[in-house]
Amino acid sequence: MPNNITIVGIQWGDEGKGKITDLLAGDAAAVIRYQGGANAGHTVVVEGRRIVLHQIPSGILNPESLCVIGPAVVIDPETLIQEAESLRVHDIAVTPERLAISRSAHVVLPFHKRLDALREASRGAAKIGTTGRGIGPAYEDLFARTGIRMMDFCEPDRLVTALRRVLPERNLLITHLGGEPFDAEQMTEATIEQGRALAPYLRDVGAAVHDVLSSGRRVLFESAQGTLLDVLHGTYPFVTSSLTTAPAAFPLLGVGVPEHRRVLGVVKAYTTRVGAGPFPTEDPGSIGQRLRDVGGEYGATTGRPRRCGFLYLPALRYAIRVNGVTGLAVTKLDVLSGLAEMPVCHAYRFGGDVVNTIHPEHFEDPALTPLYETWEGWSEDLSAARSLTDLPAAARTFLDRLSAALEVPVVLVSTGSGREATIFAQDPWA
Ligand code: GDP
Repeated sequence: MPNNITIVGIQWGDEGKGKITDLLAGDAAAVIRYQGGANAGHTVVVEGRRIVLHQIPSGILNPESLCVIGPAVVIDPETLIQEAESLRVHDIAVTPERLAISRSAHVVLPFHKRLDALREASRGAAKIGTTGRGIGPAYEDLFARTGIRMMDFCEPDRLVTALRRVLPERNLLITHLGGEPFDAEQMTEATIEQGRALAPYLRDVGAAVHDVLSSGRRVLFESAQGTLLDVLHGTYPFVTSSLTTAPAAFPLLGVGVPEHRRVLGVVKAYTTRVGAGPFPTEDPGSIGQRLRDVGGEYGATTGRPRRCGFLYLPALRYAIRVNGVTGLAVTKLDVLSGLAEMPVCHAYRFGGDVVNTIHPEHFEDPALTPLYETWEGWSEDLSAARSLTDLPAAARTFLDRLSAALEVPVVLVSTGSGREATIFAQDPWA
């Protein structure tokens, strides 16, 4: 039986991965966040408490699992410390026994954020819709080999040397874009306390996770953002700056690919997207507005209203292939209650062809025309449903049609933000 599940969003993010990770973490010895940064926001609701996680894995609410921040996450030290504090307010212990941070993870510093904001402002109408958290510039430094790792950040001598290396070039760009430059010594001084606070958490996380995996205990890999935001496989350039897909988890963490694994593709029962970029099934009309209101579709990190629209099966088929999805976690099915019927895009017309699976290069082409089917809706409230048979027939048909169209079984269904509002159709570890 596989002892690892990768939880991946198969749309544009915000699918509800945090809830699913928290739910399955009860069975996991370790939960690993493997990419992205503080631009992600995972909301978990437990016993009526709403907890928003940005960098700490959503397994932190399960006292038994080790939470790991891998080397390919870019860490904002200031907000990470605040996040740990905000969890302590909820009596959730964040200690070095519970949270392990890779020594090699890169840090996001104020100069990355300033650069991010200045660049986005300079783009005018061609904005990407970045969250302005400095994630893109921090990844640039990683790949340019000018980045600053946690092991540098937590040692003032190393930090000042690293800053002297990276700042001259970054300051040139910042001043060119009209911003104030940064000083290496001042920045080191200002962050000494943060480095001290985080140093006890640093570990060789690859080795720690390898030990858990090879002992047969269960591991969850939690991705942030969604497949269509992947820097390589998403709707470039309207993407995030990291690899968000499921197979990336293993090389990004530094463990070999386990022989048996499960990939849970988290799909919201409709589609949303934040930021700019093409969204062929967006509904700027009343259904889109209804989904936004009922589904609470406002960003957990930025508060931005999300763009809302209909299910887009060609993109889901693509994401299933890219990730090797073995099962679906369908979330927010409850949000569709009250719609008499709903359009679902099953394919699109491109030139003279009908296409079932997206080609990212078609995305921006005005010749792409979505083709819709109408799926029957239901009026019942789903929040009390605990098994598939508790669902109205039309909701069951919705799930059957989705599973048949995507050729992947539905493993679980979420009908509310709390842990209890979940239907297990199959054992996710089986
Ligand atoms: P993530 O980044 O993929 O974890 O998603 P977000 O946290 O940004 O957004 C998901 C939001 O939907 C959170 O506020 C969750 O509490 C909430 N949520 C998750 N599953 C469900 C569900 O099945 N129904 C409803 N109504 N809300 C849900």
